[in-house]
Amino acid sequence: MKCTFCESEISKGTGMIFVKRDGSLEYFCSTKCRKNTHKLKRNPRYFKWTEKGQRVREKEMKLEQTELEKKKAGKQAK
Ligand SMILES: [Zn+2]
Repeated sequence: MKCTFCESEISKGTGMIFVKRDGSLEYFCSTKCRKNTHKLKRNPRYFKWTEKGQRVREKEMKLEQTELEKKKAGKQAK
């Protein structure tokens, strides 16, 4: 069972299950994640402490690196 917001593993007996009006389930490891989803309506992509955010950050870092390498290659060509 994984947290809907931060995607970290929730052990049995902890966390909470939220049932949405359309019947779909949401799992939360802590009130922090629940608040971020419902009250603050945040997107986990923009937060370092979520798995999604970390993945997005890794992607961005890689993109930046390739761009830097491209720039370097361009300079050397001139
Ligand atoms: Zn969580």
